[in-house]
Amino acid sequence: MLAKVYARLGKGPSTREALKMRLDPEVLDKALEKLVAHGGATVSVTGEFTRGQPKWRDPYVAQRDHRAAQLEAMVRFAGTPGCRMVALVKHFGDQEDAHQPCGHCDHCAPDQSVAGRHAEASSGDRAAMARILAALARDGDLAVGRLFEETFRDGSVDRRTFEHLLAALHRARLIAVTEATFEKEGKEIVYRRASITREGRDASLEQVKISVEKPAVVKRAPVKKKRKAKRRRR
Ligand SMILES: [Zn+2]
Repeated sequence: MLAKVYARLGKGPSTREALKMRLDPEVLDKALEKLVAHGGATVSVTGEFTRGQPKWRDPYVAQRDHRAAQLEAMVRFAGTPGCRMVALVKHFGDQEDAHQPCGHCDHCAPDQSVAGRHAEASSGDRAAMARILAALARDGDLAVGRLFEETFRDGSVDRRTFEHLLAALHRARLIAVTEATFEKEGKEIVYRRASITREGRDASLEQVKISVEKPAVVKRAPVKKKRKAKRRRR
């Protein structure tokens, strides 16, 4: 879209209307705004646009990638299996911090969490967690995605449930989950790896008190019937 608008701009100033592009005016405005921000267009005080320098693309792509990476980091934070506060402190780069779990967030104190519903692990949960521990004891550390695929190839556990089980094991300190990176087409991709802890190797799962997040039950508010407004008599 930006390239289209850029190609349409002339060496002399033209108004937005004169560009005569069959675009949603809002889309055109956004495109012009971005081109101006990255030097692809200049705008006069009277609101006329002139073509700028052709190298607008590099800074634009760099900014777009940066924003996409920020969004991904936010998604990872939402799904973080560890203490929220530790993740925040790490994000803001406090090197002095001991990275001790805070004891208050939805990860540290799931029973007090209002949004998530936690329950003592069922026998099914425990059987699935035992399979996760066995896979990690056998293979060392594994990328979380691969751990899921290898352990539940039979489809007995879906991905969301798997993440809840993983978080529960992490909370109980039976596994560790860390972030790692690899490079793909010049970009740094962040992913998670899981490994078993010493406690995880030694523990017998039946004896560990462990709670698992259950899918939230969304209750619908009862629909109130609107009373018909009384007709006013004239
Ligand atoms: Zn915490």
